Amino acid sequence: MSVGRIPFLDLRLGEDAADVEAAIRKVLERGWFVLGPEVEAFEREFAAASGAPHAVGTGTGTDAIALLLRAVGVGQGDEVITTPLSAAYTALAVMMIGARPVFADLDPDRMTLDPRAAESAITPRTAAILPVHLYGQPADMTAFSSLAERKGLALIEDCCQAHLGTCGGRPVGTFGAGGAFSFYPTKNLGALGDAGAVITSDAGLADRIRRLRNGGQIDRYRHAEAGVNSRLDELQAAILRTRLPHVARHTGIRRSLASNYRARLAGASVTVPPELDLGHVYHLFPVRTSMRSALQAHLSDAGIETLVHYPIPIPRQQAFAAVNPAECPIADHACNEVLSLPLHPGLRPSELARITDVVQSFPAGASRAGKRHLS
Ligand SMILES: *Cc1c(COP(=O)(O)O)cnc(C)c1O
Repeated sequence: MSVGRIPFLDLRLGEDAADVEAAIRKVLERGWFVLGPEVEAFEREFAAASGAPHAVGTGTGTDAIALLLRAVGVGQGDEVITTPLSAAYTALAVMMIGARPVFADLDPDRMTLDPRAAESAITPRTAAILPVHLYGQPADMTAFSSLAERKGLALIEDCCQAHLGTCGGRPVGTFGAGGAFSFYPTKNLGALGDAGAVITSDAGLADRIRRLRNGGQIDRYRHAEAGVNSRLDELQAAILRTRLPHVARHTGIRRSLASNYRARLAGASVTVPPELDLGHVYHLFPVRTSMRSALQAHLSDAGIETLVHYPIPIPRQQAFAAVNPAECPIADHACNEVLSLPLHPGLRPSELARITDVVQSFPAGASRAGKRHLS
């Protein structure tokens, strides 16, 4: 077996190094660092790429979710129905605006919020539904669109893991009031620091978020409402502009790696994620096994780094103890089984083959460390 280590992800500059450095230099020479021409251009370009008329840059993806919720009128005392399986930031964004996250269980195939469970969780206080396109797999937006319409609820999409994803051919983030994106460095479109954006087809909503992200100012030093400081900076916008044109090609590579994973993992002891929509963008590739810690140790012994997304359902996080005693057994089960294998545009076919060989040799070929975990 070859000995090179296969990291989960390598965030150092690669083939785009010269472009990124040139973009940084341009901003340094201009001397304009917050909300300037790079942000405006990136907002236009990201909106066009995402199939929406408007995009508004924010400081983070978490802020993008919170600002969207706030701009559609969700606030203190309102309930927002969302998924128990996501980055905790999805639900933290709900808490940030004084609303209460209400967790409904997963669709066991998609691993995204189940529309029927969401419907059962509706109360007179429900103001919005917040599905997450987890791992790049679009949530069932046809069902959520009709549910939101039928019940008169706002529909906000957490697209932080689904840049350029589609559901039934339609871009994610365009089904309801808007979509929230993160450009945290590990995402499918990543900055070199924190950054986020909202997309929407509603010009009024875009204006409101533009104002809210900048302290609620309508003019310089005139604050019409108590906004927040969540501006996108020029360096990050310039870097994102150099990377955006490559996302579609990278998504193609992600899809082909996922299909190679599926072919090469046939007959293995793990369950691979199903492809339920061709618009899946494979931010992550979590396989499932009831012997997760043993498989993770087995891969680690072979020099292959894996991660768990996510080990704890959000309603079971200590930070949410006082919020909601939701029972989400499908999410509980998933959190005990998922293990993300390396999948990124720089992963070489030979590395993928090595990873799948090691998975195929499990559990029969499990190492000492792996066996120890098994017992
Ligand atoms: C990354 C992520 C967030 C938070 O984005 P930040 O930019 O880190 O604030 C929210 N939801 C999901 C699903 C994410 O993956």
